[in-house]
Amino acid sequence: MKLRDKETCTGCGLCVNVCPNGCIKMKRDQEGFYFPVIHQQQCLDCGLCKKACFDMASNPKKEVRVYAAYQKAVERRLKASSGGIFELLAEEVLNRKGVVFGVKMEGLKAVHTHIEKKQELEPLLGSKYMQSDVGCSYQQVQVFLKQKRWVLFSGTPCQVDALIKYLGGKSPYLLTVDFICHGVSSPNVFEKYMSEHKIGHEKINQISFRDKTEGWNCFSMAMTTENGQVYRENMHKDSYLQSFLKNMNLRLSCFNCAFRTVDRVSDVTLGDFWECENIWSDWKDDKGYSLVFIQSEKGKMFFDIIQEAIVSKEANIEKVLTYNQSMLVSPWDQYSRDLFFKYIQKETVEKSMMKVEKEGLHKKIGRKWWKICRKIK
Ligand SMILES: Cc1cc2nc3c(=O)[nH]c(=O)nc-3n(C[C@H](O)[C@H](O)[C@H](O)COP(=O)(O)OP(=O)(O)OC[C@H]3O[C@@H](n4cnc5c(N)ncnc54)[C@H](O)[C@@H]3O)c2cc1C
Repeated sequence: MKLRDKETCTGCGLCVNVCPNGCIKMKRDQEGFYFPVIHQQQCLDCGLCKKACFDMASNPKKEVRVYAAYQKAVERRLKASSGGIFELLAEEVLNRKGVVFGVKMEGLKAVHTHIEKKQELEPLLGSKYMQSDVGCSYQQVQVFLKQKRWVLFSGTPCQVDALIKYLGGKSPYLLTVDFICHGVSSPNVFEKYMSEHKIGHEKINQISFRDKTEGWNCFSMAMTTENGQVYRENMHKDSYLQSFLKNMNLRLSCFNCAFRTVDRVSDVTLGDFWECENIWSDWKDDKGYSLVFIQSEKGKMFFDIIQEAIVSKEANIEKVLTYNQSMLVSPWDQYSRDLFFKYIQKETVEKSMMKVEKEGLHKKIGRKWWKICRKIK
């Protein structure tokens, strides 16, 4: 059995979840991204993985509405990546004795997990800028749904699509939340970055990829060790955040992502409402504002329920998207990304980035010089 190639495999883990013989495992490749590996001797050749992999979940056309929103509780909002809307949706599902699936850090790895109590919600808050290991989450979601319990599943657009495909369609007790996704970074690059850090050799208690101490517009990477040491560096200086924001450490499939549409299969799509002060001049407290795309009646029902805890306004889709291109457009500079992964085999994260940029600069100068020479001729 052969599944997708590296350019199109998102690493969503659907094949692992559908395999009736448990003979597919996700393993990291040389760049550190999760890819399925099939144990060929155990494979029954049933074709279920291939069928699941090459379908897209059906998504009938519908009207999508977008809101700008933020949580009123300032402390809670500061812990979230944007306006803290995910937390309120999760709390509402937990109020119904439901189960919430989301991503937490386990050591230096981002993993999907599920919780059933509000006290367990904290580790799920905030974006972890790397590809998560989804494990057997889709199977577990199905078990809870069969018990008629509410389930919130939060993940990348490709993971949510995979879940819906796994379940064979939407379920009345399932609330799915995806986000505007820049792309997922390599867990290996994150581990390398940590090993290059003095603090990375200590036991890390807490990691925030979106610390708002210097504000939301200039967010930071922040870590605290077991013995109280603190590291914090903003997005312009921290090498890991830089390699993420410059698209260098992203998965190959993110450069040709099939999920960059407004119309998603999820019930709610969350994102950052960057530069919202250009639309509403009083929205400028730098604590984080969310975009909330309501994709279904169920999404609307949950959004209505959390209204008391948030401030929200309906927004114009075209206008907000001009400030958040990731919803529609994939990163384009795959050449720099490939170079980065070549250099990082031998160099530090910071040096690899510098080398890529130097090469890019040489190319630019070369192109300019060639243009000048042509004009002179
Ligand atoms: C890898 C990544 C890239 C993103 N790129 C963009 C972007 O380009 N533009 C934009 O507007 N927004 C982007 N976001 C979304 C944004 O950062 C916020 O997560 C979103 O706006 C929700 O914010 P919140 O304050 O409501 O909740 P938060 O508390 O921040 O919500 C966090 C939720 O995201 C889930 N999550 C965290 N890390 C991962 C992960 N690695 N994989 C899967 N699920 C995860 C958690 O389970 C949790 O449910 C990205 C998020 C991630 C994880």
